Amino acid sequence: MLTDSHCHLDFDCFDADRDLVLQRAEAAGVGRIVVPAVAAEHWPRVRALAGAYSNVSYGVGIHPCFATGNSLVEVESLPQWLQQPGCVAIGECGLDAVNSPLSLPEQQQLLERHLVVASEVQLPLLLHVRKAHHLLLPQLDRHSLPRAGVIHGFSGSRELAAEYVRRGYFLGVGGVITYARARKTREAIASVPVDALLLETDSPDMPLCGQQGKRNEPASVQSVLQALSQLLDLPSDALAEQLARNNSRFFNRLV
Ligand SMILES: [Zn+2]
Repeated sequence: MLTDSHCHLDFDCFDADRDLVLQRAEAAGVGRIVVPAVAAEHWPRVRALAGAYSNVSYGVGIHPCFATGNSLVEVESLPQWLQQPGCVAIGECGLDAVNSPLSLPEQQQLLERHLVVASEVQLPLLLHVRKAHHLLLPQLDRHSLPRAGVIHGFSGSRELAAEYVRRGYFLGVGGVITYARARKTREAIASVPVDALLLETDSPDMPLCGQQGKRNEPASVQSVLQALSQLLDLPSDALAEQLARNNSRFFNRLV
């Protein structure tokens, strides 16, 4: 069974047909879904989803693109949410130099609260980073993080991939690798050990090549697996087994 390690199944665009989306995922061999909350108001929502669907787990955090002036206050209640059943990660959190209502120093301050919490618990981070790797790497280096985390939706060079992997981070592989023009990212993904990879969709975002403009959904993890199998020239069965081991190592609370 495959895992979608990053899927925003709590978003409104799934309200009308969430059961069907999950049925299609299961039919495509995607048996487990991790839903990272993007803001404090989503924390009860993702917890409720995990309560309603036994194959859904979640993370809690504040995404830089969804942050507000209140985020620094809200993030203080993060530790108690991490104790809740079904919570398997801290995130989504990170830095975004393109599209956040907060300045980069404010985002760093918000991320800092997540990192302090992460240094005290055995949970991995689900990290979003856009055009800010030069800030993220040194900020991560200032903390001792027992479970490290994943650079979700990784896109970048071999050198950048190596920087994260040597620090114990995983790379989240999604629809990007289905685009031939994403040559640099495809090469970077192929250059790291397979045991550092997790599959994800980032649904409803990051549609696969040929699906642009449509809502992405967790069933497409199966197509990401096939694309990765071709890219790495590995049989998809063996690759799926390795990825399942990666998931249990990464999400140690995943049942
Ligand atoms: Zn996301």
